[in-house]
Amino acid sequence: MSELDALYPPLIDGRLEPLGDATFDAVNPTTGEVLARISRGGQREIDAAVAAAKTALPGWAATRPEERSRLLLQVADWMEANLDRLTMVDALDIGRTVFEIPQDYRQAIGQYRFFAGAILTHDGWNSFVPGSWRIAKREPIGVVGQIIPWNVPAIMVAFKLAPALAAGNTVVLKPDENASLSTMETAKKLAEIFPPGVVNVVPGLGEEAGAALTAHPDVAKLAFTGSSEVGRLIAHAGASRLVPVSLELGGKSPNIVFPDIDDMDAVVDNTTFAATFCNGQSCLAGTRLFVHDDIYDEFRARLVAAFERITVGLPFDPATRLGCLVSETQGRRVLDYIDSGLAQAKVLTGGGRATVPGGGHGWFIEPTVFETTNDTRIAQEEIFGPVLSLLRWRDFDTMIAEANGVRYGLAAGIYTSNLANAMCTADRLQAGNVWINQYVNLQDGSPFGGYKESGIGREVCKETLDMYTTLKSIMIAEQVPPPFYAPA
Ligand code: NAP
Ligand code: MG
Repeated sequence: MSELDALYPPLIDGRLEPLGDATFDAVNPTTGEVLARISRGGQREIDAAVAAAKTALPGWAATRPEERSRLLLQVADWMEANLDRLTMVDALDIGRTVFEIPQDYRQAIGQYRFFAGAILTHDGWNSFVPGSWRIAKREPIGVVGQIIPWNVPAIMVAFKLAPALAAGNTVVLKPDENASLSTMETAKKLAEIFPPGVVNVVPGLGEEAGAALTAHPDVAKLAFTGSSEVGRLIAHAGASRLVPVSLELGGKSPNIVFPDIDDMDAVVDNTTFAATFCNGQSCLAGTRLFVHDDIYDEFRARLVAAFERITVGLPFDPATRLGCLVSETQGRRVLDYIDSGLAQAKVLTGGGRATVPGGGHGWFIEPTVFETTNDTRIAQEEIFGPVLSLLRWRDFDTMIAEANGVRYGLAAGIYTSNLANAMCTADRLQAGNVWINQYVNLQDGSPFGGYKESGIGREVCKETLDMYTTLKSIMIAEQVPPPFYAPA
């Protein structure tokens, strides 16, 4: 892999240059090694980036959708050609596995291509009545401020940039302090592809660069992915300035197994994956597994065996399925939840920190299953680690009430061989994404987003362009109407 840069400056107005001396470190969570320094943006950088985005807006908004489409396709092509290097950068920076990260990039590439295509058919609509015409035109909203978390950086950047840029907005994006490296590598290419000021990337801390961006009077829309707590702050900031806010927040998703499943081992494998992919650090994770009483004991035994087969190891080992958590903070947070599980529930496997040779610095967590009820803290709160709550169910209505009985509503899974049963269950679940006989399938074009405290708005789909545009109605008459007031 070619070397990382010693310093990653912000991308502002087409230039990659630091505006000040402050930096923070990009740290390899597996080894503790400092990988690079990153400029620590604050009010000054946000002001400069928003000013650049504001200046670039009229020109960018006036480009033809075909031109915006062409540039987005260049991002996708570059990313595809550099997939191996970008995978290495993320594995170094966030501790996730080289087995899994390429899928992030395939998802990201798909988003640039999807919105490059979708914008070509999303240009408002016309209605024709003889003698009178009305046109509803979509227009970009303006300068968009976007803030993202650390768990899947490539996907987060693509979900935010691709629709906003396709729709003709200019952008100031703040990546997460814990996962800025691959975004700053990508920023170097964005500087080559887009006109100056169209895309600005300001790394920094949430309370500094993030807060400055959300409060900036020239930002016309805010888009955020991360915790519900910070999401609430962003919504308040948007409300105080009356700008629209879209939010993708946390989850505590139910995964429901009916007794009529055909292949128990396949379902065990898929529900294990649902709880542990991304090292368990996914808002989509299926962390509450409801298994029907008729098959519960057998399923539980096979589930525990599946969790015990998961290879915890160094991110660069191709056999590793679970790398280390992104930081000590996350590690301690997950262990605190595990302690509460040990006090309130029954641990079936795991339940502690794992040691991995060569990864002494890393916060590796044993894949953990608790047998519990829906009212415990581990069953109610988002843990963001490889920790699953297993629940037994018998009565359908009670199970549905429990499945919906959390403050979140992002995703859900259903496993059954009866299609009508699956569809009726899907109807009853308060979740933005329901997967049947599978888990985690985000297809370009299929809406993604949450009910309840999991968020506001939908990404990944054509409707996302509605979040990043505003509608103008223009009415045209053939003749000025007859006089309303009688002539004197
Ligand atoms: P977070 O605190 O919500 O951070 C997400 C982003 O918001 C980061 O870029 C962060 O900046 C920024 N931010 C923080 N405070 C801000 C403020 N006052 N104003 C503006 N921006 C601000 O999430 P986290 O600390 O990374 O993770 C905490 C928990 O959130 C996780 O354990 C998990 O439960 C949940 N989470 C959910 C998702 C999801 O996809 N739904 C993703 C990640 C985390 P910095 O961190 O760089 O300072
Ligand atoms: Mg953070």
